[in-house]
Amino acid sequence: MKLRKVTAASAAVLALTVGATACGGKNSNSASDGNKIKIGIKFDQPGLGLKQPDGSFSGFDVDVATYVAKQLGYKPDQIQFVETKSADRENALQRGDVKFIAATYSITDERKQKVDFAGPYLLAHQDLLVKKDSTIAKGTDLNQRKLCSVTGSTPAQHIQKTIAPKANLREYSSYSECMAGLQSGAVDAVTTDDSILAGYAAQDKYKGQFKLAGLKLSNENYGIGVKKGDSATLDKINKALEKMVSDGSWDAAVKKDFGPANYKNEPAPKIGQIVK
Ligand code: GLU
Repeated sequence: MKLRKVTAASAAVLALTVGATACGGKNSNSASDGNKIKIGIKFDQPGLGLKQPDGSFSGFDVDVATYVAKQLGYKPDQIQFVETKSADRENALQRGDVKFIAATYSITDERKQKVDFAGPYLLAHQDLLVKKDSTIAKGTDLNQRKLCSVTGSTPAQHIQKTIAPKANLREYSSYSECMAGLQSGAVDAVTTDDSILAGYAAQDKYKGQFKLAGLKLSNENYGIGVKKGDSATLDKINKALEKMVSDGSWDAAVKKDFGPANYKNEPAPKIGQIVK
């Protein structure tokens, strides 16, 4: 009798445990559970982070993220890419929506108060994209002109604070929206990293219509964002990035992803070395 009771109780505990495990395994809110890993990228930036019409992903950030995930023990089919727009990145990490973010994410002191960064893994520079016949050639030409950038991005802040405080800045939620505005004439220029602008300019639908000013208005050190305090993941990612450079995968990805846009990237940065 007594034995039976215990057995029933154990069975109940077992059922609960199994239930909880099954639930944990399927829990779509966890950023990684041994089976799947969620990684934040951009979905609309050709050459960096792009979701293709067939649902696959391409770009340098995607390749870096895939390489890093492999070093963390995840195969490509275990990765779930999640869109993290510029203004959403810190929140996504703080909430634990994603394990890490590789999304043209510049390392800044302000952001470092909320999240931690591995890397850097790429050095880009803020630039301008304008119509082929535009007279805008330098930062100060933007004063009184309609300029597009993205909410929560470093270039938007830099323009307002330093480069052209009198520019008529429109902040959209993504650079692809800025591109549509540039094409329609709603804005006179788009500003963000040269790596991103080169990717758009080379797209079939925009080919021959725009030019980059080539200004190097800032240094954008791309880091991989992780939740603040997650030093175990941070260390593993830094090791993975070092390996990606030393085994030639970084160079191969750069050629594959930036070659089509003819983007002349800077050499691979050293881990922990931020170019101010
Ligand atoms: N690298 C810049 C940033 O992190 C601009 C690109 C972006 O908005 O993703 O803000």
